[in-house]
Amino acid sequence: MKICIIGTGYVGLVAGTCLADMGNEVICIDSNIEKVEQLKKGFVPIYEPGLEELIKYNVEENRLGFSTDLQAAVKKAQVCFIAVGTPESEDGSADLRAVIEVAKEIALAMNDYKVIVNKSTVPVGTAQKVAEVIKANTEYDFDVVSNPEFLKQGAAVSDFLSPDRVVIGSNSLRATAIMEELYSSFLKTENRVIIMDVKSAEMTKYTANAFLATKISFINEIANLCEKIGADIEMVRAGITTDKRIGNQFLFPGIGYGGSCFPKDVKALINIANQFDFSASVLEGVDKVNRNQKTLFLNKILEFFGGDISGKTFAIWGLAFKPKTNDMREAPAITIINELLRRGAKIQAFDPKAMPMAEAIFQDKITYAQNAYDALNNADALLLLTEWNEFRRPDFDKVKESLKSPVIFDGRNQYDRDELSAHGIEYFCIGRNATPENTYITV
Ligand code: NAD
Repeated sequence: MKICIIGTGYVGLVAGTCLADMGNEVICIDSNIEKVEQLKKGFVPIYEPGLEELIKYNVEENRLGFSTDLQAAVKKAQVCFIAVGTPESEDGSADLRAVIEVAKEIALAMNDYKVIVNKSTVPVGTAQKVAEVIKANTEYDFDVVSNPEFLKQGAAVSDFLSPDRVVIGSNSLRATAIMEELYSSFLKTENRVIIMDVKSAEMTKYTANAFLATKISFINEIANLCEKIGADIEMVRAGITTDKRIGNQFLFPGIGYGGSCFPKDVKALINIANQFDFSASVLEGVDKVNRNQKTLFLNKILEFFGGDISGKTFAIWGLAFKPKTNDMREAPAITIINELLRRGAKIQAFDPKAMPMAEAIFQDKITYAQNAYDALNNADALLLLTEWNEFRRPDFDKVKESLKSPVIFDGRNQYDRDELSAHGIEYFCIGRNATPENTYITV
């Protein structure tokens, strides 16, 4: 099939590449000329495991190309995906300007029947708006389909190639058949395509993200309570996650969720609810707990240093909003570093993939280390903010030697308190203030 993807970001680039890998002819369009030029030269602007190799292979096979020429790409394509950003507006609603602009451009380029697929995360009713804009600008037949994307950054390629499910919101049999054909190659062993009406598909995406965010805020709230009452969240977690109804995924306490999706999608869903005079109390709580989680972590650091951190140096391990990505959008590290800087502290940071992103954000306000141990040099404390695998089993003797004072604030509960204590390192984490006498539980 001939496909064009408009918006070549995390979603568009991965979707376009994977669709090309299944034998389709794909052109990825972006309005960012520099990005397109880089991609044409073989430079991949984002880090996703396996993506660079897959792009190279499909470009060589002439199935994948990059361009800024939306008109030409739309004319050639049978299916046009919209995968532009839908960032948060000031009032928390999703900013749909790019989606609507692209819809109009597609309409003006149409030369035949097309399926217009909305892959961006958009509020209920957006497909209808897109259809109205297209109808007002073309005489050709078309259908607008909602096909929300569920890939996880850090595992985006494998998620796209073998999705848990593919949701297609369509009110047209013709468009549904084309979409089913397109996705059939990804779902050879088991058909997990779920066809539904457009509004339900749009709502499904927000519901999925809001539920995942809720799990994180829930376990964080319980972790905070554990700290107060002297229980250990890791024990509590082990005790609940064996219940199949609860499950063991996405229930890790930490410094809160970040990234380009959960924060904005939770707020967008609250905004949608408000538009219908509906109070989304659970989601408001989810957002509040998440924002507070970073403050609680900062408070632990402040308390340890007697309320004054000016002139102190902090080593930071991990800047990306999660491991295996270079994405720092809404990363907890940004809030935490900015607050430490505001209070007069110095920062020595290291992340395996997000250093260029960090430099664009902080410029010369922080020091960029060459590697994890380099960041520790003479620092007053180590802060673990992203749980990259390479931070999991450091040489604690080396850590202790490099730090000015041996203390670790672990925002991701990665380390064993007893092990650190044996190394003479003070250790603070999330929800584990239990006294030694009540931690003799084996899991
Ligand atoms: P992104 O910011 O990485 O990419 C968006 C791209 O669209 C950018 O390259 C931008 O230059 C381009 N663009 C903007 N306006 C354009 C226009 N008028 N014409 C052509 N190109 C234009 O965003 P993303 O993370 O890929 O997210 C895209 C959408 O997918 C969002 O709605 C997001 O919520 C949703 N989504 C994201 C993820 C994720 O993990 N990042 C997962 C599922 C869904």
